[in-house]
Amino acid sequence: ASTLTIKDLHVEIEGKEIVKGFNLEISGGEIHAIMGPNGTGKSTLASAIMGHPSYEITKGSVSLDGEDVLEMEVDERARAGMFLAMQYPSEVTGVTTSDFLRTAINAHREEGDEIPLMKFIKKMDKNMETLDMNEQFSTRYLNEGFSGGEKKRNEILQLLMLEPKIAILDEIDSGLDIDALKVVSNGINNMRGESFGCLIITHYQRLLNYITPDHVHVMMQGRIVKSGDASLAQRLEAEGYDWIKEELGIED
Ligand code: ADP
Ligand code: MG
Ligand code: MG
Repeated sequence: ASTLTIKDLHVEIEGKEIVKGFNLEISGGEIHAIMGPNGTGKSTLASAIMGHPSYEITKGSVSLDGEDVLEMEVDERARAGMFLAMQYPSEVTGVTTSDFLRTAINAHREEGDEIPLMKFIKKMDKNMETLDMNEQFSTRYLNEGFSGGEKKRNEILQLLMLEPKIAILDEIDSGLDIDALKVVSNGINNMRGESFGCLIITHYQRLLNYITPDHVHVMMQGRIVKSGDASLAQRLEAEGYDWIKEELGIED
């Protein structure tokens, strides 16, 4: 199993420090959830780890099985086995979902070891079935005219097709109705196993009713302030974040 290690990470946007000493280790077989109020730096953390150019890492380290992730180009991070839905183009005219995915899979493989077409089609069919996706979806242009729910399903389809070692899913549940939420959760649950580690970032506990995380972390003011098991998410849903602020003497 692979391990992503984040140590004392500090991230600035436009000279303002947003992530302030973030530590976490995610290994294959584990699902971690990060919860926290709006504006605490959750998305900044995710974007910085995947190499978004607007975010400046001023201190700390991120490594995947001992390899320095921060030294890698964005596409190298993906090839090393990291996944973030945001790294993919939002709308690509003239490229079908199917073509895009086949290109993406082959980009992860050695030259001369491209996925055989039949194998690709079978895998695609199976995963689209898991996600309850319409067959014609694969021949539509990527994200063009996709509804919010279709975009999310498409993100999870990418996850199932690319089989990353470590995935970071930022607000994958936002804007989903309950049926889409179940389908998306089902897709993530299908990935569960020793070779897959996942960080789910969510504002709401709702998603965690369908995907039971092994670890739940609360992020406030740019760092993890509390960690626990799945019951921590339930307590946050019931009681909000104020009790943690009180416990820690945090003011905002
Ligand atoms: P969260 O995902 O926890 O809601 P974000 O990481 O999106 O939080 O935002 C953390 C802080 O960084 C917020 O105060 C937000 O206004 C600020 N921020 C985020 N992105 C940018 C940006 N591109 N430019 C300037 N400030 C930003
Ligand atoms: Mg936000
Ligand atoms: Mg966010």
